[in-house]
Amino acid sequence: MNKIRKINIGITGIVLLIFSACVSTKPTLINKISFAKNSVVAHRGAWKKNGLPENSIASLKQAIELKCTGSEFDVRMTADNVLIVTHDPTYNNLEIEKTNYSDLAALKLFNGEKLPTLKEYLLAGSENNNSTRLFCEIKPSKVSKERGIVIATKVVQLVRDLNLQHMVTYISFDIDILKKIAVLEPNSSTQYLEGNKPPEYLKIAGIKGADYHYFNYKKHPEWIENAKKNDIILNAWTVNEASDLEWLLANNFDFITTDEPELLLKLTKERKILYKDYQLVWADEFNTAGLPDSTKWNYNVGGDGYGNNEKQFYLEKTLENSFVKDGKLHIVALKKEHQNSQYTSARLTTYGKYSLQYGKIEVMAKLPEGKGTWPAIWMLPESLRKKEETWPTCGEIDIMEHVGNDPNMVHTTLHTQLYNHMHNTQISHFERLTDVFNTSHLYSVEWEPDTIKFFIDNKLFFEAFKGQDGKDTSNEGWPFDKPYFLILNLAIGGNWGGEIDDTIFPAQMQIDYVRIYQKPTL
Ligand code: MG
Repeated sequence: MNKIRKINIGITGIVLLIFSACVSTKPTLINKISFAKNSVVAHRGAWKKNGLPENSIASLKQAIELKCTGSEFDVRMTADNVLIVTHDPTYNNLEIEKTNYSDLAALKLFNGEKLPTLKEYLLAGSENNNSTRLFCEIKPSKVSKERGIVIATKVVQLVRDLNLQHMVTYISFDIDILKKIAVLEPNSSTQYLEGNKPPEYLKIAGIKGADYHYFNYKKHPEWIENAKKNDIILNAWTVNEASDLEWLLANNFDFITTDEPELLLKLTKERKILYKDYQLVWADEFNTAGLPDSTKWNYNVGGDGYGNNEKQFYLEKTLENSFVKDGKLHIVALKKEHQNSQYTSARLTTYGKYSLQYGKIEVMAKLPEGKGTWPAIWMLPESLRKKEETWPTCGEIDIMEHVGNDPNMVHTTLHTQLYNHMHNTQISHFERLTDVFNTSHLYSVEWEPDTIKFFIDNKLFFEAFKGQDGKDTSNEGWPFDKPYFLILNLAIGGNWGGEIDDTIFPAQMQIDYVRIYQKPTL
């Protein structure tokens, strides 16, 4: 039962209350705000889906409504020193820094809203907001470098006057603006936008985070790791495509700035279910041009048919057979004589570079079209290479195999001593897709001690269990309890590849990325 308590504050209390209400224009605030636990920063508010003006209070309110963890906006200063929220240096063809606020404010935003001052914007952003940080971008002045610093100083003072320090993150393309803020407000969060400094530099400069165009991270993937090591917060702008958003989510970015907050919130929610406790531990996004990264990949070389009477000769480090271009690994088979073979191709392996026991392995790929092609994404154990075991006792996990003679039929298989294709007892499943040639599909497995699950485009289509249907659970029946490495190759012809159409060459498999996740508990 609730007890109704009478509080007698007395005359002095009333006087004090009236006095404080009169002198303070500070908003009543929840000082301990629990920001939404997602990485979504709405770029200029959540404007796009609902057709609102960018940088409007309506778009800010929408970002708060969506419970984005942040909403970004841009600050400029008028000729008469009024801080306003708007992106471009001009507003309705009026140069902001050379026009007084009253002249600018006479022209409304297209939803009828008044051009917001920073004060109005911050006050609106602090109302009924228990989720959303205010990402305040301070635009450098076009008049002078010094005026930019003056603007920054005034912004910091206003935020302080409104008692909103805990809600505001400062971002800027001008590193000196951020350095100034770091001095004025040492506990504030600051993020640099230009994308031309490594995280180690930001650490030394006293700037808390990198907020770079996402392409900078693709160009310098090591910055992601270095940022984490140096406690530099990671943010990326302005990311609107699902595949790029997925990449940043996979890399556990603290923040992702987007015009599509609804999409990013949806992907975040889906990912929580799909990836559960999995953490990214190894990846190649294929963002550098030239030969595949030699710190990640080795080659198998030779043309002895690999036990399947295959017709290609695998070559190493030949740019015509394996190369990275346009963000993809290309494995190319050619009609070209080499020693006793009529075809050349490549077989890349992580053997000696990276092996894993249990995890989620993802390969996004487009497959080659044409009779005679036999691309494969698969795994063998280190024990085979180390000659501690022979095939098939050692085991084999085939994540994806496809033969051009049976277009669009994707196979997935486990081979063991007791269950393998030599006896036609392999544990396998196949599924016909609609287009494996022109569309990248995500082929993946989740490998845990007692199960291996196979997915295409995150849809589970086959699951194998240890001891399934009374199968042997010893190494002969389930040898999937040791380190395996990954293999990507394009074979030609052979026992399964079959008849070869010589008009299809060059034939190529294109791989967008390989990502490997593990559960820290396993
Ligand atoms: Mg901005």
